[in-house]
Amino acid sequence: MKATTNQPSYDVIISGAGPVGLFLACELALGQCRVLVLEKEHNPESPLKRLPFGIRGLSSPTIEALLRRGLLEELEIHKRLKNPHVSAKPQQDAQRQVGHFAGIPLLEGNIDRSKWAYRLPGSPDTSLISEMAELETILTRRAETLGVAIRRGVRVTRVDQTGENVTVWSTDQPFEAKWIVGCDGSRSVVRKAGGFAFEGTEPEFTGYTTLIDIVDPEKLRPGRNVTSKGMYMQSQPGYVLIQDFDGGAFHNSGAAITREHIQAVLRRISGTDVTIRTRHTATTWTDRARQASQYRNGRILLAGDAAHIHSPLGGQGLNLGLGDVMNLGWKLAAVIRKQAPEALLDTYHAERHPIGAQVLDWSRAQVAIMRPDPQARALRTIVQDLIDTGDGATYIAGRVWGMYTRYDLGGHHPLTGRSVPDFQLADGTKIAALMHDGQMILLDFEENPSLRALANAYARRIKYVSGKAKDRLGLDALLIRPDGIVAWASGGAAASGDLTEILNRYWDVTED
Ligand SMILES: Cc1cc2nc3c(=O)[nH]c(=O)nc-3n(C[C@H](O)[C@H](O)[C@H](O)COP(=O)(O)OP(=O)(O)OC[C@H]3O[C@@H](n4cnc5c(N)ncnc54)[C@H](O)[C@@H]3O)c2cc1C
Repeated sequence: MKATTNQPSYDVIISGAGPVGLFLACELALGQCRVLVLEKEHNPESPLKRLPFGIRGLSSPTIEALLRRGLLEELEIHKRLKNPHVSAKPQQDAQRQVGHFAGIPLLEGNIDRSKWAYRLPGSPDTSLISEMAELETILTRRAETLGVAIRRGVRVTRVDQTGENVTVWSTDQPFEAKWIVGCDGSRSVVRKAGGFAFEGTEPEFTGYTTLIDIVDPEKLRPGRNVTSKGMYMQSQPGYVLIQDFDGGAFHNSGAAITREHIQAVLRRISGTDVTIRTRHTATTWTDRARQASQYRNGRILLAGDAAHIHSPLGGQGLNLGLGDVMNLGWKLAAVIRKQAPEALLDTYHAERHPIGAQVLDWSRAQVAIMRPDPQARALRTIVQDLIDTGDGATYIAGRVWGMYTRYDLGGHHPLTGRSVPDFQLADGTKIAALMHDGQMILLDFEENPSLRALANAYARRIKYVSGKAKDRLGLDALLIRPDGIVAWASGGAAASGDLTEILNRYWDVTED
């Protein structure tokens, strides 16, 4: 069948209705784009997306993103389950484990949150728990409300692009759009069709997530146990995670994960003769770490696991993918609306690729000290000592929860490139609440007429907000991008460059 040559009905086709594809659909629809999501599965439901398998730790950038789009309140699971990451009463809970690095516990009492600059009192949590199903349900509802078309049971098989359009094929059925974004997970067809290089390191282990009945669970030690053969952890009765340093052989073999196999692996790793009565559900994964060397090839873009994969140690993949979306969504929408130069899209790769590379290295570092060999054990002991110090724990927690995330946007002000603090204006309004429409904001604490005039010159692209704040951290004014990143700041120590020049990097006003 031949592709049609009419003007495409959609601005963007997204391949994959996972959390990243759905969130991107919401961001693009918020930016007035016509969006079609194609998802290969007929049914979004899967036990692997529900607790305990589907548990996902959300970190600060994700929590802020959801807050800035008015979605945070819709998350329910963290309200009824004890949040393992944030202590309501830190002084009474100093010994509570709030995370880990390579299985080494991170204790609440060792973390000094005051070291994280620009966090205002009343800022949202730095971490909380959710599940895949919960997130996907919330994002699907929002996407549909915003007018996104979601077609399930349509597998993308091929992508062709011209200078102006893309044709996305599902077997012999073509779909036309101006752009396609591959959010189709680790085995992304869009990535392969787009000819993206996907480079990195091969796995060292097969990871198992299992729900099993154990005849003699007392033979297993509680908590996370790194042994001379690998790692096992029973976090709740019958929910057992295992790491077997087999070079990823079992996962790659595609063999069935039988009760007998899990029992053999668990016995070997735990050094016990534990017996499994029933296997309910089991899945495997590895620490293969790869990243697309470019996130854009012409009209084809990648986000989420389609752009980068790594071991789930420390739980960062979903957060990384949702961070891609916050960065890409408003830029692609602005280019489609012809309000921004197409070159703005190249900043997506420039800003997000280094963040992805850091996460891949973070997961590799953990694998390196979990290896069942004497050198890794020796290094692990040293790292453990460091994590038991205040500075060590604060650094590790800050990295895991995204507290140090910063884009290199140039300029001298230390806030440039960072997430904007959730300032509260004198009338009680918080900045996050002003960001629900996804617009860029020029926030002026000094009510400066020249800033107001400048904002007017970029009407429909930025909105001007002025007012006194309860605590303005020594700032006079800020330019806040739709993704919540500070593009320019003035006051206190410095101003981060010429504001007009910075605005012109983002916006093209010649089309008006
Ligand atoms: C055991 C485990 C624990 C984890 N824990 C955490 C955690 O705590 N925190 C965290 O941040 N991350 C965690 N992760 C990682 C996280 O789950 C992933 O990074 C995240 O799901 C990626 O989202 P995505 O939308 O990019 O891809 P996916 O969730 O894989 O979604 C891709 C979608 O695309 C669809 N699709 C695939 N191919 C096609 C096609 N050809 N055509 C159409 N549709 C297609 C799929 O059906 C799927 O719906 C964990 C991962 C594992 C395995």
